[in-house]
Amino acid sequence: MSEVNETEAGMVRPRLHIGLTGGIASGKSTVAAELSALGAIVVDADALSRAVVAPGSEGLRSVRESLGPAAIAADGSMDRAAVAKLVFADPEARALLNGIIHPLVRAEGRRLVSEAGPDAVVVQDVPLLVESGQAGAYDLVLVVEADPEERVERMVRDRGMTEDDARARIAAQATDEQRRAAADVLIVNDAGLEDLRRTTRRVWEHYVAPHLEGLTNGSNDGPDDGPDDGQTVRPMDGA
Ligand code: ATP
Repeated sequence: MSEVNETEAGMVRPRLHIGLTGGIASGKSTVAAELSALGAIVVDADALSRAVVAPGSEGLRSVRESLGPAAIAADGSMDRAAVAKLVFADPEARALLNGIIHPLVRAEGRRLVSEAGPDAVVVQDVPLLVESGQAGAYDLVLVVEADPEERVERMVRDRGMTEDDARARIAAQATDEQRRAAADVLIVNDAGLEDLRRTTRRVWEHYVAPHLEGLTNGSNDGPDDGPDDGQTVRPMDGA
């Protein structure tokens, strides 16, 4: 595992830097909220990608310059629907937009991680962690996996998507196999929400707390064995 901030002069590394990922509507936010309740500082890539183009931001000014006034809604915010339409039809515009947003999100993420301080457990919720090849940047990669059919049902029921849109969103992301290959710990979200929260607490107990105790005892070795639960939490190779 590489040192996340090793090339960043002056950056403060957290005690444990966790990358959290999973396909769309797999349960990442639920796991992140529980990790936050346990004391982690959560840095949410989706929230950052909205914040860096908030009204009045340098990011939004760059978007306007690159994509034109059609990218801005009447209230001065980024017109997400218009921008989505623009970049869907035009790969060059997509590259321009990504070239603005991604560096700002990375910089803001680094700032928040550094600000969290040396004793923090930081969880970065990064939907496209595997797609963007970032797995090596974390001490521990947690992958949440859920049945694609369940995820489609949630997107249609709760987010007003059509079934075709929901399936297209899943198909555009990495596969479960690709995410598993990047995982240190796999959380299989195959029961209810309370089970998912309980599983997350077990992950903390078995994979996070020992690191914290180990460090105060002068050793940062993680546990050798996973939790006593073969069904919903699986340590992957190397965890
Ligand atoms: P996104 O990729 O869109 O950010 P996500 O991976 O963060 O989604 P969540 O927001 O945690 O996923 O979950 C998606 C929806 O599915 C939420 O409404 C959540 O409450 C629900 N959900 C997640 N897991 C379960 C479950 N085990 N049982 C019932 N509902 C669930």
